[in-house]
Amino acid sequence: MHYTSFLIKYAEIAIKGKNRYLFEDALVSRINQALKKVEGDFKVGKTQGRVNIECLSDYDYDEVTKALSCVFGITGICPVVHVEDEGFDKLSEDVIKYIDDEYPDKDHTFKVNCRRARKNYPMDSQEVNMEMGGRILDAYPEMKVDVHNPDILLTIEIRDDRIYIYSKIIEGPGGMPVGTGGKGMLLLSGGIDSPVAGYMIAKRGVKLDAVYFHAPPYTSERAKQKVVDLAKYISRYAGPINLHVINFTDIQLEIYEKCPHDELTIIMRRYMMRIAEHLAKESECLGLITGESLGQVASQTMQSLAATNEVCTMPVYRPLIGFDKNEIIKISEKIDTYETSILPYEDCCTIFVAKHPVTKPNVNIIKRSELKLADTIDELFKRAIETDEVIVVS
Ligand code: ATP
Ligand code: MG
Repeated sequence: MHYTSFLIKYAEIAIKGKNRYLFEDALVSRINQALKKVEGDFKVGKTQGRVNIECLSDYDYDEVTKALSCVFGITGICPVVHVEDEGFDKLSEDVIKYIDDEYPDKDHTFKVNCRRARKNYPMDSQEVNMEMGGRILDAYPEMKVDVHNPDILLTIEIRDDRIYIYSKIIEGPGGMPVGTGGKGMLLLSGGIDSPVAGYMIAKRGVKLDAVYFHAPPYTSERAKQKVVDLAKYISRYAGPINLHVINFTDIQLEIYEKCPHDELTIIMRRYMMRIAEHLAKESECLGLITGESLGQVASQTMQSLAATNEVCTMPVYRPLIGFDKNEIIKISEKIDTYETSILPYEDCCTIFVAKHPVTKPNVNIIKRSELKLADTIDELFKRAIETDEVIVVS
């Protein structure tokens, strides 16, 4: 079947009242961005309160629908066949051929749904529904009409230029177009959780930057490449991401040398948050995003999260906070990050981890331990920021 356009359905963004056009414009721009990666010429536009993609050249259907299924804001993708208006008899021939191409097996119920945007068409919608229904039944007696719950809802849209025929809806990813919800800084490690957290926040319309804390030579180039690869998967949904790679080795060694070992993870995480917040402010992000989930490990108890959170003034978004690991894994499989996340390269947290980390840290005690870093930490912090390597991932 050769579809000549795709009609894009969106739900949530349609309810935004006066701001509706902002959301539609963002959706159009995200669709254009997604289609740039696909071979072919497309024209994306808003028509009559909907978004329409005209296919101006040959294209690969699977590639196009795959690209569109990563664009947040889309709830449904309808592949459309256009025909010229050459009278009702010709239209019914076209519709009968459309059904044959689309549904080789005719054992279905159907309903004709005519929408008449061109009011001077010689028949009204109801007449088209009745007459077309009759012609379909004549052509395919095995088919049955069901006006309440049809297997096939066959839409015939009569427009000024042409007539549109469609019946299939491919489910879209939902959510809000990226860019409509501000920007956030994702703390992206090589694990399973943080890519999923980034995906979930992007789904709500938030553009992402990311930061990865690298600890060479304790963590390898392969570990870093793994994070770049994960960012690439996220960018399929979230658009281009500026990934900051921060060399965290000296700060980590300093903490290791001066602070009690059972507090290492918490203190290290507090410095990660401080640096992430610094970068976030510089790049106009409105919040930090982590893959933390309550109770998953010692550093993610309520006490630990309170201690980590205490260094931030920005909101910290933790979309996985109430998720079990298997729920997180399901999403990571869906967005294709799982296989990369489980590659066994070392993580900077696991190398300096204590045998028995505190699970209920007391913020005042942690702060007292951090005083031991007073002479050196400002300089190390400054150097870590100065040597920030930014990789644009898209
Ligand atoms: P993940 O799959 O995200 O690695 P995890 O269960 O291993 O999760 P932790 O190592 O405790 O969790 O880290 C909690 C969160 O802190 C991560 O989800 C991530 O947002 C952030 N984080 C941890 N390590 C790093 C790192 N090296 N660089 C950037 N962010 C990190
Ligand atoms: Mg981790």
